[in-house]
Amino acid sequence: MRVETVGDGPAEIAVIGGIHGDEPCGVHAVETLLSADVEFQRPVTFVIANERAQERDVRYVDEDLNRAFPGDPDGDTHESRLAHELSMEVADCQVLALHSTQSYEGLFALVDEVREYERRICPRLSVDAVVETCDFTEGRLFEVTRRLIEVECGFQGSATAAENAVQVTREFLAAVGAFPDDEAPHREQLPVYRLTHSVPKDAAEAYDVFATNFRQVQSGQTYAAADGQEYVAESDFYPVLMSPYGYEDVFGYAADHVGTLES
Ligand SMILES: [Zn+2]
Repeated sequence: MRVETVGDGPAEIAVIGGIHGDEPCGVHAVETLLSADVEFQRPVTFVIANERAQERDVRYVDEDLNRAFPGDPDGDTHESRLAHELSMEVADCQVLALHSTQSYEGLFALVDEVREYERRICPRLSVDAVVETCDFTEGRLFEVTRRLIEVECGFQGSATAAENAVQVTREFLAAVGAFPDDEAPHREQLPVYRLTHSVPKDAAEAYDVFATNFRQVQSGQTYAAADGQEYVAESDFYPVLMSPYGYEDVFGYAADHVGTLES
């Protein structure tokens, strides 16, 4: 794990890239911001989390780091020990964690729940939507701090995701007072979704997803297939993080549209 703090005194702001080793956008953003000729108005801790997985270009070495929190200093896995170490670094911080997906080309934010903090920060970011994870936080960095915004920056390995990660990091740093305020937009009408359940998939050779993320699937609509077997919606839902191969045993998640934020 690489940790660097810029500015004077203990940092109350942290930016984390590389929680997943095969998502280079966050690493790019951290390295770009650290080498940029900029003045930080508040101290910021930058972290590249799972360097060992990053070197091997794999999501993780032993287990998914973002299911291993809060971790254990004597844990059996690399990620268990790393989760503990990272927790110690950022527990008292307002945290931005940068990710990328196989499911969506734009940016969106994942939060535990929209409270005052999220209501203030999220509309300052160039994201298409905010997703409340609610009951789906087990083992995730949300276990360590609730002042956490995860941003999915685009498709894994794409140049666009790397650019988006730099942009949204600058916006986040402006929103929390580490950069000049005019770095961040003031968004109107930012939709909020809440995850309700995961969308399972059966073991198969080939998968398809016909649904478009954040676009409502209607009851009776075929939203996916596994080896040609079709999956038909039993009720309306909004698909989130849905992709053919992004996860081992689920296509992704179903969500409700629960509101709108404005800055
Ligand atoms: Zn990730």
